[in-house]
Amino acid sequence: MNRQNEVKDIVPDLLNKIESTYKDLVENDEVLSSLLKKNADKLAKAQDEQDFAAKIAERLSEAYKEHISSGNLPNGKMYYNIAKRIIPPTMTDSYQQISDYCYAAQSALNENAGISIKAQRAPINTDRIDGIVNRVSQEPFDEIDWILKAPIENFCRSVVDDHKKANADFHYRSGLRPRIIRKTDGKCCKWCSNLAGAYEYSPGMDREVFRRHENCGCTVEYDPGDGSKRRQNVWSKEWKQKSEKASDSIALESPLGNKPVLVTDQAIRKVKAVKVQGLEEDSEILKEEHQKLLKFAQKENGSKEVTGVINKSELGVKKFVYAKGDWDRTNLDSNPEIPMIFAMSPPESLVVIHNHPNSNSFSYADLGIFSYPQVKTLTLVTNKGVVRVLNKTDSFDYREFIDIIKEEKERWGFTGTTQPVIVKNVLKRAKECNLEYIK
Ligand SMILES: [Zn+2]
Ligand SMILES: [Zn+2]
Repeated sequence: MNRQNEVKDIVPDLLNKIESTYKDLVENDEVLSSLLKKNADKLAKAQDEQDFAAKIAERLSEAYKEHISSGNLPNGKMYYNIAKRIIPPTMTDSYQQISDYCYAAQSALNENAGISIKAQRAPINTDRIDGIVNRVSQEPFDEIDWILKAPIENFCRSVVDDHKKANADFHYRSGLRPRIIRKTDGKCCKWCSNLAGAYEYSPGMDREVFRRHENCGCTVEYDPGDGSKRRQNVWSKEWKQKSEKASDSIALESPLGNKPVLVTDQAIRKVKAVKVQGLEEDSEILKEEHQKLLKFAQKENGSKEVTGVINKSELGVKKFVYAKGDWDRTNLDSNPEIPMIFAMSPPESLVVIHNHPNSNSFSYADLGIFSYPQVKTLTLVTNKGVVRVLNKTDSFDYREFIDIIKEEKERWGFTGTTQPVIVKNVLKRAKECNLEYIK
């Protein structure tokens, strides 16, 4: 037997003890219970989220402290091989609990504000966990044990901040004007006192407002009900009402009374590849998918409209999910899988393709689909095989896009017959909002 085998692996037992102590502490914590109750009653405020995160951190630190000491570590050191198997799983548990709390709190805020957008989760910041693992394993445990306290609290509190940011960002991309409010009790520090105040959120804003130094208990708040909501539904509600009426939808997509065109094999062969920014590699795949869609429309839907949806990372890997429509439009809900995909997809992750039997330009309803934050690219292939693309580039400006639509609507008046004119003029101004329009 070599010496290696004589050394007992202390990790499984240690991890077990920490996890069970942590679970006990959390379950029996009255502050946590009352905060959870508040959240279940949809009454949790930003301060409650911070308090919850701080308390979770405190309990995790306690569990660490109870079981980890230089005395039970080999040579008094928490070697990398030990730290790597103890710290990440336990910190991930805490992250998950805080994320659940934030998710529920945000859902309630959205609901109160009358916003039907799903709450967003912020991903776990694994860099910070790795940082703690690296540091703790470099020095004798007695000299580095502080790292399992204040930095843990900072990590946990930051989970809340990350969720505020993720939700404000998602709402911004949906055309709202989120406002971030940073509050301090005035006792924190000069830096925080300076930073306190209200900020209009934008993806390019100074990120300092979301920063949190050690032992900082300030709150970073985002409530969509505080006026951030004022742009909500300027676009989508109207679109929905209009497109739900069958009589209007005729005006939507066949403004000139064009007769529907049947898909022919020749048209399918004619489909060309297009280069779309961000999907350059998928140009050939996209071409084949347009051909498949036309084939499907021809064989399975009498040449009427078909819409296909896929996550851009699954292009060429998975099949598009199809919904069958009629001559003028597709009701995406007709395939229940599609609303599911939308609900679960992050911003700018979906590629939506569809054919038009009787119009060779995007419709007003199409702009509605494209304005969903989840959609990155919307393509149109006519039954004659002509391809057009609307694509959100990296620098796509959502708010500008919504503004342009609003302006054109005011300019032409919003009726069934002006819709094609509005679309045409919006697309003319594509460059103003860094929208890629390929025709
Ligand atoms: Zn502070
Ligand atoms: Zn369309």
